[in-house]
Amino acid sequence: PHISNMIAAGEVVERPANIVKECVENSIDAHAKEISIEAYEGGIDKLVIQDDGEGMSREDAKLAFLRHATSKLKDEDDLFNIQTMGFRGEALPSIAAVSKVVLSTSDGDEGSRIEYDYGELKGQESISIPQGTKIEVSGLFYKTPARFKYLRKASYEFSVIADLVNKMALSHPNIRFRLFHNDRLVFQSSGKGNVLEILYQMYGKEVAENAVPFKAKNETFKLSGYAIQPKINRSTKYFIFLSINDRLVRSIPLQNAIIETYHNYMPPNRFPIVLLNIDVDTQLVDVNVHPNKWEVRIAQQNDLIQLIKETINAAFTKELR
Ligand code: ADP
Ligand code: MG
Repeated sequence: PHISNMIAAGEVVERPANIVKECVENSIDAHAKEISIEAYEGGIDKLVIQDDGEGMSREDAKLAFLRHATSKLKDEDDLFNIQTMGFRGEALPSIAAVSKVVLSTSDGDEGSRIEYDYGELKGQESISIPQGTKIEVSGLFYKTPARFKYLRKASYEFSVIADLVNKMALSHPNIRFRLFHNDRLVFQSSGKGNVLEILYQMYGKEVAENAVPFKAKNETFKLSGYAIQPKINRSTKYFIFLSINDRLVRSIPLQNAIIETYHNYMPPNRFPIVLLNIDVDTQLVDVNVHPNKWEVRIAQQNDLIQLIKETINAAFTKELR
């Protein structure tokens, strides 16, 4: 395998959940309406991610495993105006460098099956399948024992996957998600755009019924989401779901803004549950901070924080009246 793919794999693939994230993002970029994720033994033994998206032609399927062969950016300006989940062209080569991968895909016209073992092309053939893409990943880190050692118990690895798939479903309520563990269906969303239905599955009736909707905007940002009423909130772990332009992100400053606002309404030993979507011009967010694309840099972040605080405060004050 190419050394550069091994290095990229170190940044992109740390555990099975990273593979799920990259593959699901690819399915979203391919405009899938249905995505299913099957994990075996926490995804350590095997992962199968399947979608009904646009699929790939034979030529594109071959290219997909080449480093930086993204079909999503046309020129360098696009890098500062990212409209897709993926853009680095690193995920598939990184995954293929540290596992066995079988890709089956069809663009509705021609289908192909490509097999990689630890960075080496094993086979390639034409097949006939319906439009869409299926990626099977097994034997993760088998040839990199130092890596393998850092995987945790299957139950833990699966919990990371489940948390991620919940969040992906929340950020794309119009896509139908199904998640299986060892052939058992453990989560599904209807794909009918109902965020509360997903929240209900995650936290039960009381939380879903006490989700206070909010909407707000200033010249730059548009916010929408739900804040669970502090009085109902008995969560012993906070759950702050953040997405920017439908992309799941992590941001300590935004998270802290939410936690601070909540603690005007509840004691510090309780934890908020909040879903927050932010819409903003793609040129004002930089998602190319780390290869795993979780971190972001946001222009005018302080204005955004102010808006978040005001909005959550307003949602609760209205509710308490
Ligand atoms: P990126 O998403 O950054 O472009 P990836 O390595 O994740 O790079 O994928 C490489 C290419 O493979 C993508 O640009 C896309 O053309 C193709 N591809 C990967 N997964 C899918 C999928 N599920 N459906 C259609 N095309 C896909
Ligand atoms: Mg990708």
